[in-house]
Amino acid sequence: MENSFDKLVNEIKSCRDCRNIFGFEPNPVFSGNENSKILQISQAPSQNVHKTNKCFNDVSGKKLRNEWYQISDKDFYNDDNFYISAIGHCYPGKSSNGGDRKPPKHCADKWLWQEIKFVKSKIIILIGRYSAQYFFPKIEFPELIFNNQKIDDKLTIVLPHPSPLNQRWFKKYPEFETERLPEIRKIIHKVLYSQK
Ligand code: SF4
Repeated sequence: MENSFDKLVNEIKSCRDCRNIFGFEPNPVFSGNENSKILQISQAPSQNVHKTNKCFNDVSGKKLRNEWYQISDKDFYNDDNFYISAIGHCYPGKSSNGGDRKPPKHCADKWLWQEIKFVKSKIIILIGRYSAQYFFPKIEFPELIFNNQKIDDKLTIVLPHPSPLNQRWFKKYPEFETERLPEIRKIIHKVLYSQK
């Protein structure tokens, strides 16, 4: 019999709630399992992820796993390591200014809390301002980035979006890459590779 986690995964995969908002067929792209060590929550899949059905299969993903996490693609795409989800599980399409539309918040309200409940990860990583604001609407973004947080009593790390479009933020806060990132990388490597 299908357990409730598998049922949830199938329900999310079948979700087409945003068809009319997007104007095209929604394609939920996420991966991982109930025992993934890290639950990673970003904003929404990019167009390339939408087309290839592979999470973070874009320039941002490359920077995230190779430069920031400093782990191999094999370790990143190992379902026992990462459950990769987002505020919006589908690519939302382009807005009138040429950027991607904001992820639909109701997607997180409907699905994300159920995933958080099921996935027994050791830590949570939030990526991007939009994801951070969903969970911590009253705390300034830099404060979230430079301090460990908690969701449901679980250690939570907040990262800026690794997109190349975010250069201004990286220039404004150079201590993110020089000071905070090494601390974060240490936590991630401990969770992934420590036997304890
Ligand atoms: S974005 Fe979320 S709510 Fe909208 S169709 Fe995709 S899975 Fe469903």
